[in-house]
Amino acid sequence: MKTLFLNPPSVEGFDGGAGSRYQARREIRSFWYPTWLAQPAAMVKDSRLVDAPARGLGVEDVLRLAPDYEFAVLHTSSPSFASDVKVAEAMKDANPRLLLGLVGAHVAVSPEPALKASRAIDFVARNEFDYTLKEIAEGRKLADVDGISYRANGTVVHNADRALIHNMDSLPFVTDVYARDLTIEDYFIGYLKFPYVSLYTGRGCKSRCTFCLWPQTVGGHVYRTRSAEIVAAEIAHAQKLFPQAKEFFFDDDTFTDDLRRAEDIARRLGKLGVTWSCNAKANVPYETLKILRDNGLRLLLVGYESGNQQILHNIKKGMRVDVARRFTADCHKLGIAIHGTFILGLPGETRETIEETVRFATAINPHTIQVSLAAPYPGTVLYEQAMENGWLTKSGGDMVGGEGFQVSSLSYPHLSQREIFEALSDFYKRFYFRPRKIADITFEMMKSWDMTKRRLREGVEFMHFLRARESQS
Ligand code: SF4
Repeated sequence: MKTLFLNPPSVEGFDGGAGSRYQARREIRSFWYPTWLAQPAAMVKDSRLVDAPARGLGVEDVLRLAPDYEFAVLHTSSPSFASDVKVAEAMKDANPRLLLGLVGAHVAVSPEPALKASRAIDFVARNEFDYTLKEIAEGRKLADVDGISYRANGTVVHNADRALIHNMDSLPFVTDVYARDLTIEDYFIGYLKFPYVSLYTGRGCKSRCTFCLWPQTVGGHVYRTRSAEIVAAEIAHAQKLFPQAKEFFFDDDTFTDDLRRAEDIARRLGKLGVTWSCNAKANVPYETLKILRDNGLRLLLVGYESGNQQILHNIKKGMRVDVARRFTADCHKLGIAIHGTFILGLPGETRETIEETVRFATAINPHTIQVSLAAPYPGTVLYEQAMENGWLTKSGGDMVGGEGFQVSSLSYPHLSQREIFEALSDFYKRFYFRPRKIADITFEMMKSWDMTKRRLREGVEFMHFLRARESQS
């Protein structure tokens, strides 16, 4: 079937598509690659991948495409679900013969309510959906496809689960789909060089952090990896496809979960002479960091979450604050930049632990930070805890506001939703408006006119973000 893979249009700047862990508009313009859609798109001949938010496409643009296709797959998320259903309905109106399916963590954990949300949805795919979608695109009957829930004779039918993919090398390169259907200059992440290209070298994460969406929904807790040889081959291929790319990013949940393999890949990348970055846990030993750095590693994206040890225990982070400090000092010593991510409002949070986390962040001093609000996505342990303990706010757990920015959806007897929400702006201001950090950023801008323009633009967007939050509070 002629197949369209679609990241549906949404509010301006909403980065909630098939590559975004935190489905919200960021402080500054930011788009991850829709890798989870690109992968099945690489397996379906003559398909097309359209990433409406990153391309700036609206509903009208997408509706013009609907008559040209027989099968459409829309990626959805909890915050964008209602809006994605409207897009699905409009597409079905534009082409009533269109077979339409939804994918993503939200429908994976709540297939029945998702299907009942609209008659326009013919099926939802649970678990990993690459081969599921390939089989449907090849014309297999829905009744014979593992991993979907669909409607038949007025009732919802749940087929058997789709087996997890273990031979990751069997998956074709996503970079060919990027080259075919995307414009890499549409993708921008504040702490990555521009333009960048990101892809996965493996799926799943060994850790069991209670708030983390993907390992608890579609990725699982076994780190299933592509061979170092194939990863290096795809990067070499991508160098030819995208000679303008300044950096490659490995978006595996925790690329450093397998240290020997990470070192093996690094040595191969070193021979290619590329600059690269990846997600990491704050426990990588110095020796490994050095090998990675010596072979082109520029930046690590590190989820610190909190500077309070008890909160790290509460969320099952499997991380010690003192180890994170030592790791960060090692990175500074080696000249590896860190983008550190923190979360406010996790179970056990108090005014004192927020203060402790702000002090921790300023003390370890990552190059840049992202501060998020704890988001109880359905399908996570955090969501279950929030339901059991009555932590969800009156808004019923809305995770983003009208402009697409995150809102606090948790509150505790000793810490209100408003206090958590307001602490976020305060955290950013105390981190970035320090003489040391201002000097760092100024120095960085002096080194390059491109960086100066970029940081000035980001500064304007960041101030807009702070003002938007202040008007919400
Ligand atoms: S280590 Fe990172 S990716 Fe893995 S479960 Fe925890 S937060 Fe998620």
